[in-house]
Amino acid sequence: MTDNIKLAELLFGHITKTPEEYEEMYKDRGLKEGARVTRFAPSPTGFLHIGGLFAAMCSKLSATTTGGVFFLRIEDTDKKREIEDGVSEIIKGLSAFGMTPEEGVVGFNEEKGSYGPYQQSKRKDIYQCFAKELVKKGFAYPCFCSEEELNAIRAEQEEKNLDDKGYYGEYARCRDLSFEEIEENIKAGKGYVLRLRSPGNKENRITFEDVIKGKIEMPENIQDVVLLKTDGIPTYHFAHAVDDHLMRTTHIVRGDEWISSVPVHIQLFKCCGFKVPKFSHISPIMKEENGGKRKLSKRKDPEAAVTFYFDEGYPKESVIEYLLTIANSNFEDWRKANPTADTSAFPFNLKKMSASGALFDLVKLVDVSKNVISVMTAEEVLEKTLLWAEEKDEELYNLFNADKEYAQGILSIDRGGNKPRKDISKWSDIKPYVEYFYDEIYTPDYTMPENVSPEDAKAILETYKNTYNASDDKDMWFSRIKDMCEGLGFTPNVKEYKKNPDAFKGHVGDVSTVIRIAMTSRRNTPDLYSIMQLLGEEKVMSRIDECINSL
Ligand code: GLU
Repeated sequence: MTDNIKLAELLFGHITKTPEEYEEMYKDRGLKEGARVTRFAPSPTGFLHIGGLFAAMCSKLSATTTGGVFFLRIEDTDKKREIEDGVSEIIKGLSAFGMTPEEGVVGFNEEKGSYGPYQQSKRKDIYQCFAKELVKKGFAYPCFCSEEELNAIRAEQEEKNLDDKGYYGEYARCRDLSFEEIEENIKAGKGYVLRLRSPGNKENRITFEDVIKGKIEMPENIQDVVLLKTDGIPTYHFAHAVDDHLMRTTHIVRGDEWISSVPVHIQLFKCCGFKVPKFSHISPIMKEENGGKRKLSKRKDPEAAVTFYFDEGYPKESVIEYLLTIANSNFEDWRKANPTADTSAFPFNLKKMSASGALFDLVKLVDVSKNVISVMTAEEVLEKTLLWAEEKDEELYNLFNADKEYAQGILSIDRGGNKPRKDISKWSDIKPYVEYFYDEIYTPDYTMPENVSPEDAKAILETYKNTYNASDDKDMWFSRIKDMCEGLGFTPNVKEYKKNPDAFKGHVGDVSTVIRIAMTSRRNTPDLYSIMQLLGEEKVMSRIDECINSL
């Protein structure tokens, strides 16, 4: 028996499965040529960053547009960072925006798919099996260095002002311990980490083709990075290599903070005998500030958390629509050509992503969202508002729920057709938008425009009260308003007014504004005729009276 095999048995005697058995268990997926297998692999820190959702979306679309598979893996090897409910938060966050994975972790302690477990904390034996294999091949060794010894190495390197600091080459003290020395240390109960025996050479460079960033060249890795920590739990580097191999990931789509680790990763894949997957590194989402750009920050920006969008009531469709506009620059043209198509029909392409960071702009999101909501049916708007309000606005929920037909009627005004109104960007806009339909939440404000005196406003309303007929159709309704004008010193003809403004108190627009204010306290609303139809004759009359009394 060679020393490496003896060492593998000494360290991992309890591991009986072989890599071949795992290869057999997790067979090639047999997908069609070009189908991509991608994943989202967050740590369950209990916070889903909008950048995380963005990465998950790009990852998922890149799988679904190629007929592949997108799965969710939970990277919970770092217990210090984990918080309770972190997994549920992520799953909830993804599903709230339609980014539910078809495979992987789908609930608390719940998984779907044949390539699991999908939670790293449940894969210890798998990692150790591959670690054992690396020891056998001479690519890994136990390191007994204490914190102090590692600090001393670093201090020495700093003193010598070395370009390369860390645990490598001659500084890797435990690299060449004999089997006997190792055995002795272990018998003495000394703790150890397992390190890679890096076959890298400082003079060599590696190149790889990043799908998003293009060709990248970097020095080969020479560091003997840690593969397993003292408790036998793997580091991210090692765990993700084993996982992405066994889960048959074809494209690693992740944040570009990992680019600097690619040389370690490529080396690890190779030492393990795995095919190196394709890398797609996404730049962070940026925010403009004081003329400069910075990363969207969890600490400073409320909009960095995906919960912000749900809390404010942005529909998931709007958030995704917006993220697509910053993901692929051809999305907006596609949308113009396909105004009503579902976003899932968009031919998303990782290659079309910006290699520098996409700029996040809430004002643009609001615009996008107004468009998205404007083409929804009233029924859809009602249903989605109810879902949101059930959690976020009990008062609105109760009002809408008490009479859904009335609510749907309100939401139908100026909806549909070629030019739908675009005044709602989020569900939290709806309450102020509909408040005058509900006495329970409506506080009238009868402030009249400056160009109409209280006496004239009163006269307009008194006259209107006598002419209003709830059974009029829209044309008749408007004719009556026009017919009132002359007797009150106004003109029904706007052009005429513009030609000779001194001859009139105002025009028909001013007259209807007075009526509009009496009904809604607003100068600008959706179609007033429809509003009055919904309010009903009794309320129309009582509002006219109230307004007259207040003047
Ligand atoms: N757990 C890593 C992170 O949250 C995942 C990186 C990756 O996608 O490979 O950053």
